[in-house]
Amino acid sequence: MLTAEPTQATRLHTYSFPTAIVFGAGARWQLSGAVAQVGMQRPLVVSDRAVAQLPWFKPILESLAALPVASFSEVWGNPVGSQVKAGLAAYRDHQADGIVAIGGGAPMDVAKAIALMAHHPGHLFEYEDGNPNGRPVNQPIPPIVAIPTTAGTGSEVGRSAVISDDETHAKKIMFDPRLLPQQVLADPELLLGLPAAITAATGMDALTHLIEAYLAQGFHPLCDGIALEGMRLVAAHLSDCVAFAERLAAGESFSAEAAAAHLTARGGMLNASMMGAIAFQKGLGVTHSCAHALSTVCDTHHGLANAVMLPAAMRFNLPAAPERFLQMARVVMPEATRGEQFIDWIIALGDRIGIPPSLTALDVPSESIDRLVDVALHDECHLLNPHPVSSADFGAIYRDAFGAGVAA
Ligand SMILES: [Zn+2]
Repeated sequence: MLTAEPTQATRLHTYSFPTAIVFGAGARWQLSGAVAQVGMQRPLVVSDRAVAQLPWFKPILESLAALPVASFSEVWGNPVGSQVKAGLAAYRDHQADGIVAIGGGAPMDVAKAIALMAHHPGHLFEYEDGNPNGRPVNQPIPPIVAIPTTAGTGSEVGRSAVISDDETHAKKIMFDPRLLPQQVLADPELLLGLPAAITAATGMDALTHLIEAYLAQGFHPLCDGIALEGMRLVAAHLSDCVAFAERLAAGESFSAEAAAAHLTARGGMLNASMMGAIAFQKGLGVTHSCAHALSTVCDTHHGLANAVMLPAAMRFNLPAAPERFLQMARVVMPEATRGEQFIDWIIALGDRIGIPPSLTALDVPSESIDRLVDVALHDECHLLNPHPVSSADFGAIYRDAFGAGVAA
């Protein structure tokens, strides 16, 4: 019989890493096998307006030519409810029995929301996670096969769909373990043409997931290990990805050696992004609450919002978890001796890849602070932050992120 104080090992914890992932150059050509494996016979391919125009998109569709395939690509910007509605109509028109999601976070989340609504009555937002008056998710959800084309949200290995209200821009999170794609084809070749700015912003989103998951309250040593290795991959590859994207934009043609290094860097970030989303089943933190408010109030790109908020949010968090900051610092620079050096590293990385240094540089009006604080406070991500965050704390973090010139 146990008589000592309960420890982490005397309680029950749930670990879950169920996604089948095929990673590597050319993984996209496994699609017809993946679709067959999950039992899909009439796939709806969900992508976005930009992805559907890319040269590799049509050949992927053609690889499914043995099946009746329909395509829906009316997704752009931050995903909203009306896009899900249109996608659901396409799903029903085609009498589809599953979804192939190809793209970044937006089409991935729209695909999950379509899958959720395929057999559920009512309005999408009635299934918002934590809504006390909501409807239960208790009907079948068709299978999803996902092909990510950015390295950021990692939504391809996540269990939630984040969709905004068309009018209020408020983000709603729908959650169910069955929204997790059953198969992921992670092909770094599809990321080789991503522009530098998107590479930087999405990469910083992945980094923010890794950091916030590692710092989140709760006991999850598996997620902690994944988060630290993910940070090492970001440190090794993100600035290379951005530099390669800039060289391509300048018209440079690559030697075989440079092309191989570019593929390696993109593959590193693709894995880091999936590791971030796997790790944040543990939780996120204050940076994401700040970023969600920026997207709601100012329509700021999610990754960019995280990137600009991250140093201020981490200055707030450092005193609450000094040992964890030192651990993170040692992962990205083995010679580190102080946790503060991790924040210095974040700032230097942002600087190297062209992240604006402050909210002021991002043209966020400083008069919006009160509204930002209000929205951030009601966001749930900060509830697992290593230090509780009050309204006054949010105000201070935002003022810090605005930089010099915004009075305390
Ligand atoms: Zn994020």
